[in-house]
Amino acid sequence: MVYNRTAPAPWRRRTQSGSASQRGTQDGSDRTVAKRTAKSRSPERVALPLWVPFIAGACLGALSVAWMLTGWLAAVPRSKPNPALDAARAAPDAWNWTDQPAAAFPVPPYARFLQDVRVMLDPGHVGQRDRGGNWKRGPTGLREAVVNLRVAQYLREFLLAAGADVRMTRDEDRSLDLPDREDLRARAELANDWPADLLLSIHHNGVDNPKPNYTSLFYHSSDGHSRASACAAQWMLSGLNDALRLEDNLECAVLDDRVLFDRGLAVLRNARVPAVLSESSFHSNPDEEVRLRDPVYNRREAYGLFLGIARWAQAGLPRVRVVTPKDKRVRSGGRVTIALDDGLSARGGWGAERHKIDADSILVRVNDAITTYEMNWSKRQLTLTLPRRLSSGTCAIWVDFTNVFGQPVLHPRLELTLQR
Ligand SMILES: [Zn+2]
Repeated sequence: MVYNRTAPAPWRRRTQSGSASQRGTQDGSDRTVAKRTAKSRSPERVALPLWVPFIAGACLGALSVAWMLTGWLAAVPRSKPNPALDAARAAPDAWNWTDQPAAAFPVPPYARFLQDVRVMLDPGHVGQRDRGGNWKRGPTGLREAVVNLRVAQYLREFLLAAGADVRMTRDEDRSLDLPDREDLRARAELANDWPADLLLSIHHNGVDNPKPNYTSLFYHSSDGHSRASACAAQWMLSGLNDALRLEDNLECAVLDDRVLFDRGLAVLRNARVPAVLSESSFHSNPDEEVRLRDPVYNRREAYGLFLGIARWAQAGLPRVRVVTPKDKRVRSGGRVTIALDDGLSARGGWGAERHKIDADSILVRVNDAITTYEMNWSKRQLTLTLPRRLSSGTCAIWVDFTNVFGQPVLHPRLELTLQR
């Protein structure tokens, strides 16, 4: 007999007329019907097969997640003893700042911005007449000139490796026997005549007191001197701090040279290019004198100055140039157009199309008188009209501004020839 699909559901039949198997048996039904009807004796046993796939699926899912977690955990490196990390986690006061880092002096990638930058190195007192006695000597007789020359020579190596154009006012310890005033002027003139983008006069400090030992950097700020000098000094202080790790620091380590003498330092006063005088440490301090005898320490100092100069160059070296008149010959009342180079945009790269000049910092002077100008930002040029009453000879136009790093123009003074 074929199972009757239209017949009432088995459980209904059971409630209506007793067991289906009983009925099947009574009706003489075959074994198939008997089996089907046997499964339908209770409603729970019929519903069970519908949940089995769900339960089985859930179990399989849980197994899969467990399997994945096991794999992930196996992939995560187990924490192993890491002595370097443990040491690095020490409290900040566990280290001593004056512990000098390893004597390794790599050229940083940003030093590429020194390419073709002109640096004049001036080893202090080299070639100067030795006055004998304790003059420019440490407690045990170490001559400052010897240390200055070694540092300058090492610094030249670093700068040349970075592509800078380097010259030295003196590169051998041989007396030129010049009077001091002439000697110092000659050093500055070498930088002016080139003209250098930076003159660095390298010295070490000396006082009667054996205790002081700190870094100081000097610039000259009277009229006609580039503000770029103080800026370069700041970067060099940063490099020297990293390299030398001196314990003492001045309240202000970048100083106008007129704190020393009313007229400042001759080598800086006579310079017409950005000029800095470094006193990296005190050769009059007995402990420092011992260190200064060590060429590795001299190289460390040169590296600090190098890092500072490289960072200074990375921040852009702004320049100005006369666009018209091309022959730089002007008449009173004439027009002059000057291009402003922020020292950064011409490198190209991301954002090169936007100028990096602080617009409020632009200052134009003609023969020391502040002058108005028209700015063409798309060309990054300014145009000014010269006064109608200018005596013939040279007309000096001073154009200064700072870029986004606060770097002033290296050579802000432009000279034009006045015609009648
Ligand atoms: Zn000196």
